[in-house]
Amino acid sequence: MKTTLPLADAFLDAHESKLRPILSRYGKTKEIHSTLLITGIEGVGKKSLALYLIQTLFCDEGGTKPCGVCKSCKRALSGHWFDLDWFEPETNDEGTRVGQHKIDAFRELKTKLGMGPAEEPFRIVVIAEAERMTTAAANSILKMLEEPPRNWIFILTASDSSRLLPTILSRCMEIRLNPLSGEQIFSILKTSKGLDFNSTKGQVASRAALGSLTRAMSYLDEEVWARRDQILGLLSSPTHEWMKLVENLAQSQQDLHLSLDLIESIFSDLLQSLVQGEGYEWIHLDQKESLSQWMEAKRITIPKLTHVLEKTAEMRKFVNLTLNAKLLSQEVLIPILEIL
Ligand SMILES: [Zn+2]
Repeated sequence: MKTTLPLADAFLDAHESKLRPILSRYGKTKEIHSTLLITGIEGVGKKSLALYLIQTLFCDEGGTKPCGVCKSCKRALSGHWFDLDWFEPETNDEGTRVGQHKIDAFRELKTKLGMGPAEEPFRIVVIAEAERMTTAAANSILKMLEEPPRNWIFILTASDSSRLLPTILSRCMEIRLNPLSGEQIFSILKTSKGLDFNSTKGQVASRAALGSLTRAMSYLDEEVWARRDQILGLLSSPTHEWMKLVENLAQSQQDLHLSLDLIESIFSDLLQSLVQGEGYEWIHLDQKESLSQWMEAKRITIPKLTHVLEKTAEMRKFVNLTLNAKLLSQEVLIPILEIL
C-alpha cells in the first residue's frame, strides 16, 4: 500500500462529502454498513479515501476527522495489524503488472471469522481493486459478505465495478468518486509535490490527467515530456520518421499506453480548439500557438481529427488484450498518419 497522509485540502474538498452521510449516521447510531464499495476512475483516490475512513473510525479522538497522530491513526497507515487486513492484487516481480486476487490470499482471513476486533470498534478488511478477484476468490469473499461477522466492515475499491460479480455488487453500498478537476489536481500536486504555482508542467499534467491524480503524478516524469516532444516533433516530420515512434511504441505495453494517452490528449486539444474556438482551455497550453499554426498549415479539419481519435480509441481496446504492441502500432498508427 502506497498511501500517505495527511491528504491535501483539495483532495478532501473533492471527496470527503461522499463519506459524510456514512460518518454522520455512525456518529449518531454507532452503526455502519458492513460492505462499502468505493468506485471511481483509476488514480482518483479510492484507496486514500478508504484509509481516511478507516482512520476516522479508529481514531482515538473519536471525531469526524482522523487526528493523524494517535496510535490507531498511525497503525492504519501500515495497512496491516490484527484489526485491519488490506489486500492488493498480486503483482509481478517488478511490481509493474497488476495481477489478480487469488483465493489463497483470503484463506487466512477465513480463520479469523469467529473473532471480533481486538482493540478497535471494528475489524476492517480492504480489498483494493476488487474487480481483479478470480471467480473462486470472489465466491469465497461473497460467503463472508453474505453473513458478515459482527463488527466486521468490508471496504472494496474498484475502477470498473461492472467486472464485479452481481451478487457482490448487490451486497455493497457504493461510494462513487467523481474524476478530479484539473484545478483540484493542480492544487493537490502543489501541496504534495511543492510545485511552483505557475509551473507549466504541473498545469499540463493536471489537465492531461483527465481526473486521475496518479496519472497526473506520472506525467511529471521527464520521460513523459521527452515522449511528448518526440510526438510533437514528428507531427511536422515526414511520414517515414514516424516509424521510429512505432518502434518505440513496441517496446512495452506501458510505453504504448503513454504514447496513446499523449496522442489522444494532443489531438483532443486540436479538435476542441476547432469546435469550441478561442474560449477553449488547452491541455497542452504551452503548445497552443505552434499547434494552431501547424493545423492551419496542414489544413487539418474536424473530421480528420475525429478519425484520429476514433483510431486511438480502437487501438486502446486492443492494447488491453494483446502484448503484440508492434503489430498494433503498425496497423493503427500508420493509417492515422496517412490521413494527416
Ligand atoms: Zn487519531
